Amino acid sequence: MSFHVYNSLTRRKERFESREQGVVRMYNCGPTVYSRAHIGNLRSFLFADVLRRWLEYLGYEVHQVMNITDVGHIQGDADEGEDKLDAQAKKDRLDPREIAKRYADEFLADVAALGVRAPEVYPRATDHIPEMLAIIDDLIAKGNAYQVGQDVYFDVTSFPNYGRLSGNKLEDLEGGARVEVREEKRHHADFALWKSDPKHLMKWDSHFGPDGFPGWHIECSAMAIKHLGEELDIHTGGEDNVFPHHECEIAQSECHTGKPFARYWMHAKFLQVEGGKMSKSLGNVYTLGDLEERGHSPRSLRFTLIRGHYRQPLNFTWDIVAEQKAALEKLDELYSRLVRAADGQGTPGDDDAGRALLDDSIETFESGMNDDLNVPRAVSALFQLRAHVLEGALGRTVAAAGVDFVRRANDVLGVIDVDANAAGGEANEAIEALVQARLDARASKDWAASDRIRDELVAQGIVIQDTADGTIWRRQAE
Ligand SMILES: [Zn+2]
Repeated sequence: MSFHVYNSLTRRKERFESREQGVVRMYNCGPTVYSRAHIGNLRSFLFADVLRRWLEYLGYEVHQVMNITDVGHIQGDADEGEDKLDAQAKKDRLDPREIAKRYADEFLADVAALGVRAPEVYPRATDHIPEMLAIIDDLIAKGNAYQVGQDVYFDVTSFPNYGRLSGNKLEDLEGGARVEVREEKRHHADFALWKSDPKHLMKWDSHFGPDGFPGWHIECSAMAIKHLGEELDIHTGGEDNVFPHHECEIAQSECHTGKPFARYWMHAKFLQVEGGKMSKSLGNVYTLGDLEERGHSPRSLRFTLIRGHYRQPLNFTWDIVAEQKAALEKLDELYSRLVRAADGQGTPGDDDAGRALLDDSIETFESGMNDDLNVPRAVSALFQLRAHVLEGALGRTVAAAGVDFVRRANDVLGVIDVDANAAGGEANEAIEALVQARLDARASKDWAASDRIRDELVAQGIVIQDTADGTIWRRQAE
């Protein structure tokens, strides 16, 4: 069984093979920190997180980098319009560096709350100006870029593969529509590597002039090459990054290094809200803060955003978040039941028959993830296993193997609170003692004591279920 991914560059599913055996170098396009990340952005970052976790499950050593764009991201696709950071800074009457710091901190807090494992580095564009200028100089020297006044443009006609990723053809990229005509450009699709504007708030001196700042695309090339080397295995982003951002990254990186930039390009699809587009005017550009205000946990949001396949459009609704919360509680219950069955509680099933059922669930999980990260199929394996556990179909040894499997699966999904539901530990022993005391009270028909103990458990966030196999407990999900 091997890992297959859909490669946007070739438009087909391909068997994944890293350049260096056992090692993956992966770059994820990160946030532009001029506002708080919305759930559409978060979907793309969570997709990258699940991909990294799956690669680790497969045994790869993953070198992962996600950038933070804190300058140079222009509002439109063309090189006209305001820098998003500058525009927000003017609106809030703050220094753009303060804006960048505020939203970068918020981004880091949000992804941490969502259980995103930190990459090796979160490089910031403003810390890599010399690296960008070095690439720009090299591109000019090689004839792939040209200077007009204090601006520098990439010459798209110098790179025959321009348009391969997005499917755009140069002759179709007419001025006006997506890319505005700018007089000083040789070709209307040429894009800025370096711009000069005395009114820009964040600017750097260079041999091009005093008031310069980088283009957004060159930032990612410089940061990826610096932190991961000239040839990446995987480059990810949202589907809105394909053109022009990633198309331009490929052009300038490959002209600079003379090597293929990334083997696999993977893009997460858009997120819709209530069946329509997210937009400020509709007031549905939700953030993690909005979810929390409505009483939803980061864990529920994580599950909602990873549970659909990343290449399918995801429709976000409040009902779906509530459903995912309920589904998560079932997975918590699966885990706590397995732990207790492994501990010899309940009616033990047959180990031989149970083994086949467990193996089948593991196979479904792994083949799902190996099929271009089919999380829906992988999650269905856990519900399948839950059904077997509810039937009492697993023996004690198999239940122990099941505990191990669910922990490993959850290492990829990151949604089940396995530690809270683990057996053992002083805190859990105290709860076990209370649960037993309640059972003793019920046995002697001391209902008042039984109710009192139950209330005490509930106050500690413990859910108790009396089942045919005895009483089981788990911690209430957030
Ligand atoms: Zn990027």
